[in-house]
Amino acid sequence: MTPPRPPQPALGTLAFYSEFDDFKVWKAALQAQLPMLDIVHASEIRDPADIHYVLAWKPPEGFFDPMRNLRLIINLGAGVDALTGRRDLPDGVPITRLSDPRMAQMMAGYVLFAVLRHARDIPYFEQAQRQGKWAYRHPRSPEEIRVSVLGLGELGAQAAGELQRQGFAVSGWSRTPRDIAGVRCHAGPDTLETVLSQADILVVMLPLTPETRGLLNRQKLLKLPHGAALINVARGALIDQAAMTELLQSGHIGSATLDVFEHEPLPASDPLWLLDNVLITPHLASVAIPSSAAAQIAQNIIRASRGETPAHQVTPARGY
Ligand code: NDP
Repeated sequence: MTPPRPPQPALGTLAFYSEFDDFKVWKAALQAQLPMLDIVHASEIRDPADIHYVLAWKPPEGFFDPMRNLRLIINLGAGVDALTGRRDLPDGVPITRLSDPRMAQMMAGYVLFAVLRHARDIPYFEQAQRQGKWAYRHPRSPEEIRVSVLGLGELGAQAAGELQRQGFAVSGWSRTPRDIAGVRCHAGPDTLETVLSQADILVVMLPLTPETRGLLNRQKLLKLPHGAALINVARGALIDQAAMTELLQSGHIGSATLDVFEHEPLPASDPLWLLDNVLITPHLASVAIPSSAAAQIAQNIIRASRGETPAHQVTPARGY
């Protein structure tokens, strides 16, 4: 005879999965908000049918298959491409993303750093320094520098606003029309080539979806003015990486700051590592911050436990 099950805690059980985030820190932050929630690491799940909520970053394929009583899937980040389009997602279970002002602030800080780096010709001075050269180049004033931001969502809109406050001539591009003070906003595929052709610095902040995968192919990248700078903080697969590398080698793209790549970690043999007009960072432009994100996760768990609609839901068919 099987022993009786212990009584379930009031809110149910949340399973956590991430190879990058600290389970203990997240558990403490969530428990402070929801003492009645049972929180387990994915490696400690005894019966998947006992799991009601999942907080996860890039769980392996098949992860959700045995979870028959799920009420909510919370993506431990903003980009949801690792969750949408999977075959193991249970029907009708809402997926939410983090929508954390501190995450947006951290991203805006990275983008501002990268744009200023190109706008102030820092890659040129770094190269000159390595050759022991005092290579004066007169600074350009920010309003002369056209910065285009592709993607005006929670992160893109904040970054565009930050750049506009620095005095850059900022344009933005989104799927549906947006209105951001001081930013020249464009929408839809027909306007993309115009936006690209007017970008001294291009900042890529789009989600990876069936529509945006490979969007910046060679033909689109060639629309950039000769010598333009490219910043990608979104997803590597938005850009044809081979074409981008060749255009960086030829100088059509003058310099790049790249946080994301087609394959991560970027293989040691990748030619991008050897280009001195490229700055590579290992996918960390912004991260989820437990102390600030825990409250909204808790709110959504409470809503889901009552059968209410959670906030910050992803639309799987749209891909973001
Ligand atoms: P959102 O989902 O809030 O916004 C997405 C934006 O892209 C919206 O403006 C949307 O248009 C636009 N968009 C989507 N599809 C298209 C399309 N086909 N054509 C034109 N525009 C399109 O995303 P976030 O701002 O929160 O995040 C952007 C991305 O940043 C994430 O998806 C993730 O991949 C990446 N990221 C990277 C991190 C890092 O550390 N490197 C950290 C966090 C996120 P509309 O406004 O009309 O909906």
